[in-house]
Amino acid sequence: MKKAVVTGGSGGIGSAICRALAENGYYVYVGYASSAEKAELLAAEIGGEPLKLDVSCAESIKAACEKTGAVNLLVNNAGISEIDLFTAISEEKSSRIINVNLVGAMELTRKLLPSMIREKSGCIINISSMWGEVGASCEVDYSASKAGIIGFTKALAKEVAPSGIRVNCISPGFIMTEMNSRFSAEDLELIREEIPLGIFGEPRHIADAVVFLASEKAEYITGQIIGVNGGMVV
Ligand code: NAP
Repeated sequence: MKKAVVTGGSGGIGSAICRALAENGYYVYVGYASSAEKAELLAAEIGGEPLKLDVSCAESIKAACEKTGAVNLLVNNAGISEIDLFTAISEEKSSRIINVNLVGAMELTRKLLPSMIREKSGCIINISSMWGEVGASCEVDYSASKAGIIGFTKALAKEVAPSGIRVNCISPGFIMTEMNSRFSAEDLELIREEIPLGIFGEPRHIADAVVFLASEKAEYITGQIIGVNGGMVV
């Protein structure tokens, strides 16, 4: 059975990814940092395993990788955001965003790659954001972290392609999850008007793209940034 690790599997998009991968035959490690109960419930539902994995903590990454051993698929989905002026964000918050969203994904990948290289097979899918492509005012640190994920995807894809490993990136638009719970109904309506397809994205839209990129149907696709955004960024 193929094994997958999904970071932030306890969250809105992550849980949809875990469910979709389990439906497609994967044994899924449901990664979580603080939401142990959510991860446990989900893992029990899909026949997977909860995995304590704080991507900002080297010891947590090490312990998680020892638990999973070699995996076939890594989905770097964990992420945090903060909305404020660039000059108002503390150095501590800024570092946290970069450490969780970018450095965490890179360090976990560094640990899980050697076994994929030995196997000459594997798949890595990074979750960026449309703001990593075009930048968002009042989300400068977040946008920078997500732009970093795009660069990371492209460079790593070139480096590990000769080892039979594909690395791709999904760039979600506005997806209805806890991350967007801070927006008022009025704000949401203004945002919806900016979406050409006229509706907000759902976690399953990202999960469907993950399943596709992980499948053999995507065997000739690597180093790509796939927008799943209802046409908001084209
Ligand atoms: P969410 O519901 O808030 O979930 C965030 C997830 O990240 C949670 O599972 C959380 O785990 C995990 N996480 C936070 N800090 C972590 C850490 N230090 N180590 C490991 N995991 C950590 O957010 P979401 O909307 O599903 O977002 C998932 C990904 O999609 C993020 O990378 C986000 O940037 C990206 N994205 C989202 C949208 C959107 O509109 N929702 C748009 C573009 C991109 P715990 O709860 O266990 O702490």
